[in-house]
Amino acid sequence: MELEIKGFIETSFLDWDGKIVSTLYVAGCNFRCPFCHNAGLIEKPQEYETISLERIEKHLIKHRDFIDGICLTGGEPCLHHDRGLIRFMKRIKANGFMIKLDSNGTRPECLKNALNEKLVDYFAMDIKGPLDERYDRLTGVKTDLEKIKQSIAIIMGSGVEYEFRTTVVPTLIDVADVKDIVGHIAGADKYVLQQFAPDHSWDESFRKIEPHPREKLEEMAEAAKKEISNVIIRGI
Ligand code: SF4
Repeated sequence: MELEIKGFIETSFLDWDGKIVSTLYVAGCNFRCPFCHNAGLIEKPQEYETISLERIEKHLIKHRDFIDGICLTGGEPCLHHDRGLIRFMKRIKANGFMIKLDSNGTRPECLKNALNEKLVDYFAMDIKGPLDERYDRLTGVKTDLEKIKQSIAIIMGSGVEYEFRTTVVPTLIDVADVKDIVGHIAGADKYVLQQFAPDHSWDESFRKIEPHPREKLEEMAEAAKKEISNVIIRGI
């Protein structure tokens, strides 16, 4: 299967802090996070129209005066590492646009390759939870934590701007978990605590979970600041 773009937000102010981008959603993911909002894109990508690269390019070039670049998200873009992802990124860069790459960190070789080819201007990597037996509850699958650790090391040593981020789902992530997470990424440039949005969660039982109150996220941020100076709360 070649790289398939299944979602296209032409203009987004939300997906890259300080930048205006087009956001592209790639089909498929190797995680099954119960709180995921993109289950359709992962389970039944064939039900979504495939958006041609030509259409995307045309839009970007036409609006070059205000669009800075693209945000590649999903799904998991790096699943398409050998299926045209790098080729696609090269084409976008050749047109003079910046690229933000979102990843769940399971394919460090993809991050490394994209980095070596100078194709990434910003990495955003999910760290779902503490890097131990708790991780699988958050991803819904058996996770190779060594790969996650390798991805963290690649990103932190990349010289490219980046953020790590965690969606703080009640029942799965509390202050103690955040303390453990930041222990794995001490000294990182930026850490984002994302508010959980229950609507559209993949696992229907999660749609009834009340998000943490703002005070809880602020407590988490304070705890995270012991290891990382730049901690941001998003989604509140
Ligand atoms: S990694 Fe992202 S896209 Fe994949 S299942 Fe989890 S939340 Fe959904």
